[in-house]
Amino acid sequence: MRHLAPQWRPWLLLALCLGGLGTYLAVNLARDRTQIAVAEQERLSAQSRVIEVNLTRQLRAINLALESIITDLPYWAGQPDGKARAIHQIKSMEASMPSVRTLLVLDANGTVIQSSRAQLMGLNFSQRDYFQAPLRSLNAQALHVSAPFKSVMNVFSVALSRTVLNANGGFGGAVVANVEPADIEILLNSVRYVDDMRSMLVHGDGTIFVSQPALDNVIGKNVSLPGSFVRQHLQSQRPVNHFEGITQSTGDKRFVVLRTIQPTDLAMNKPLVVSLSRESRALFTYWQRDARNQLLAFGLLALLSSWGLWFYRRQRLQRRLSQQRLKLATEAAGVGIWEFDLKSRRYHWDSAMFELFGLKPRLTNERNDDWHQLLLPGELARVKAATRAVLKRREAFNLTFQIRRQDGELRFMRNRATLHRDERGAPSRLIGTAEDVTERKLREADLRIAAAAFECQESIMVTDANQTTLRVNQAFTALFGYSAEEAVGRTPRILQSGRQDPAYYAAMWGGIKRSGAWQGEIWDRHKNGRHFPVWLSITAVSGDDGLVSHYVATHTDITLRKAAEEEIKQLAFYDPLTGLPNRRLLQDRLHQAMSQAKRERSRLGLLFLDLDKFKPVNDTFGHGVGDELLRAVAQRLQACVRESDTVARVGGDEFVLLLPVIEAAIDASAVARKIHDALMAPFTLSQGQSVHMSASTGIAIYPEHGSDEAELTQHADAAMYEAKAGGRDRFAVYAPKFEPANAPSGADAGPADTPGTP
Ligand code: GH3
Ligand code: MG
Repeated sequence: MRHLAPQWRPWLLLALCLGGLGTYLAVNLARDRTQIAVAEQERLSAQSRVIEVNLTRQLRAINLALESIITDLPYWAGQPDGKARAIHQIKSMEASMPSVRTLLVLDANGTVIQSSRAQLMGLNFSQRDYFQAPLRSLNAQALHVSAPFKSVMNVFSVALSRTVLNANGGFGGAVVANVEPADIEILLNSVRYVDDMRSMLVHGDGTIFVSQPALDNVIGKNVSLPGSFVRQHLQSQRPVNHFEGITQSTGDKRFVVLRTIQPTDLAMNKPLVVSLSRESRALFTYWQRDARNQLLAFGLLALLSSWGLWFYRRQRLQRRLSQQRLKLATEAAGVGIWEFDLKSRRYHWDSAMFELFGLKPRLTNERNDDWHQLLLPGELARVKAATRAVLKRREAFNLTFQIRRQDGELRFMRNRATLHRDERGAPSRLIGTAEDVTERKLREADLRIAAAAFECQESIMVTDANQTTLRVNQAFTALFGYSAEEAVGRTPRILQSGRQDPAYYAAMWGGIKRSGAWQGEIWDRHKNGRHFPVWLSITAVSGDDGLVSHYVATHTDITLRKAAEEEIKQLAFYDPLTGLPNRRLLQDRLHQAMSQAKRERSRLGLLFLDLDKFKPVNDTFGHGVGDELLRAVAQRLQACVRESDTVARVGGDEFVLLLPVIEAAIDASAVARKIHDALMAPFTLSQGQSVHMSASTGIAIYPEHGSDEAELTQHADAAMYEAKAGGRDRFAVYAPKFEPANAPSGADAGPADTPGTP
């Protein structure tokens, strides 16, 4: 049993039970059969005993009759009417014995000398066994039982004969009694108690000579072949035997009792055998029916019990499978199943419940309500209120409460249950599920936060991976003028101002692909067509598969910031009064121009210009008018130069002109002359004043007058002082020996004619 797979054990048990029952039935049936056989054997035996007793008595009577005839023979021989007397005597004997058919006296030659039947007189029966046997034995005491034969009367019978001795003691003949078969038939028939019973009388040599019922081809048949019942019986030397099997007489299966009849007081040379038999089938009819019924019942029982076991096991398997499936499903869903008995106030939990609540099944109390201690304050009251609501108002139980597990974790538990009633309809149990919804709750909170964050001050646009807009917030609408309906489904290209070239966008996407994010300044377009600067920040959102699923773009309007930046730049690099580049910007540009000139081996001109006698203007008309004049001068100076040239204001009334590329020194002088001419016309100021203003200009040329910025600046400044010293309202080209520069340039400029020259 231990080595057998568990699923086969019930089958083995069933097989053992059925085997035991089957054996019991078989043993019982065998015993019944034996009992039937023994009872029958006893009955047949008793009946055969009846025949024996009866036949023995008749044999004795016949033997006595034969003996008295033998005794009377000498007497009859000595009487004159002896013959008639003898016949009379023999006839009356025969008549008194129903079992004797004929009485005969044979002489020594076998001829009938006296008989109970007249027609037999004088016939010779010397060849008959009943004559030959006495002839051969010469034993006066012996009773010879002849082999069955067919008599002259055409009757099958046996004869009993005794030897007659003559006066000398030699063979004198025989006395014979032919047995009457009809009488024996009556006897045999009288013991039969059922139709299938057969009674036979068999001669000692095995020949049947009487049978009841009378059967064809049986009378005269020898049934003493080797192995036959009769042979076995005679060989056993026992008076009675019983057999069961195929009989030789009729070839059918029978139950047979054989009894030998050979009384000890009669010197019979051959015994007679009584055979009583019954047909086996008939004998065991009831038993067979019984056995068949029992076998049928047993088969039915085996079939039913096997089917029952199979059905039961299949049901159990299906139940177990469905339980397993439910368990797996609830486990997979993280769901526990609970039951609350309203009478005993006891909770029944499945293992998943204990896991969810972080409790150990074995450590719980009688009612299994330890989990109450895990509830946060106030939650138990809610649980009880919900239970009451189910009972009173028949509401469904649906409650989410918070617990703090023993490991310290705060969890949200969602509980749903339905009310079950007992047979009388009274509420008996709540059966339901519990589910840990903490993650869901947190996710919901996250979503709420995200939704709130989405509607922030900053414009947000969400697109899918193909840059189709999915969502925009209200700040987006406020910034760009597009409503959510207008923007969703379109691409962010509606915002492009066209100010950035394709390379700019390519660089942006390159950044997003590399690092997943990009931010920078960009010019966008409002729905109304206005362009404005935006601080754009793009973040790629990737899914679990690592592929980009969404892009989130935020936009900040930086118009104001840009303006402020511009202002700062203006303040740092430009002169607030005139708007011209200041000294810093000039130095910057000079540096660049110098580098370029050195590279390209070209010339560069630097002109230092200081207004003549400006101070008195201030003094005369006030500082404001001075300022106005400075702005007007600046405008005229700018008009004298090319776009690529720089006019800077580097001090109170000091200006510097940078000519980055000139062919020759003469070009710079030409500019100086142009300025001189431009300043000749009087300045009409806002308050009606007309002012004349001249300037003194110093010129330095790279590379002739300086190899670096400092030197060139210094020399231009020096030349300017030369011009001042030379009488003002003139220009001077730097000369290394500090000679007054009036010779060539002065002649050109015509300093003498210039207003303001002392
Ligand atoms: P000179 O011919 O020698 O150059 O005589 P000048 O009066 O021009 O004297 P100088 O160049 O030395 O002085 C320049 C004057 O310009 C000094 C100052 O009063 C005046 N000034 C400087 N900055 C400003 C300014 O921003 N606005 C006004 N209105 N006047 C200024
Ligand atoms: Mg001056």
